[in-house]
Amino acid sequence: MKITQVEFVISAVQPHQYPDDALPEFALAGRSNVGKSSLINKMIQRKGLARTSSQPGKTQQLNYYRVNDRMYLVDFPGYGYAKVSKVQRAQFGEMIETFLSDREPLKMVLQIIDIRHPPSKDDILMYDWLKHFDIPVCIVTTKADKIPKSKWDKHVKVIKQEIGFKAGDQHVLFSSETGLGREELWAVINRAIAQ
Ligand code: GDP
Repeated sequence: MKITQVEFVISAVQPHQYPDDALPEFALAGRSNVGKSSLINKMIQRKGLARTSSQPGKTQQLNYYRVNDRMYLVDFPGYGYAKVSKVQRAQFGEMIETFLSDREPLKMVLQIIDIRHPPSKDDILMYDWLKHFDIPVCIVTTKADKIPKSKWDKHVKVIKQEIGFKAGDQHVLFSSETGLGREELWAVINRAIAQ
């Protein structure tokens, strides 16, 4: 997809800071270091716009990027970082839960998983949570360039099995390094907007 306009809008820490223009929102969830910022930068074709989302301690920020004046990518804080405190973990849980249960413009969550490894406990919890709130999910298995093509299918199968992938959800194979999956992921997003 051609990106004509992209703007970092806000790092929101409170719901009243979320945009109120009702444009459709696509949130990105994933473990710290999974490659979320790289994926956002690849999707919007701006090298350094998404900063690394895994800054530990920034467990309450939702970063909003407006794309082509028609939708938002919403970057969740990275989860699973060992050194965050119990309080921060609880804050993360509370904010995400409120967002997932209340956020009207949310169309889909793009859940980013490293293709090299089986999903973590936190990945599985996140997916269960999304399903609990009945939110459409696209699992994006990223860093595909890091394993041989011949292993892609097997790794994807294990990830889908262990996460309990539901019919109706989407999956896209991705690499921020090569751009693999970029157009396919935009197609998934555009279809969800059109629905
Ligand atoms: P975040 O913490 O989830 O935002 O992760 P980053 O986007 O900062 O990525 C973490 C590390 O993985 C960085 O060193 C990236 O360069 C690297 N990385 C991210 N995506 C890919 C990818 O698709 N392929 C390769 N080879 N490296 C990647």
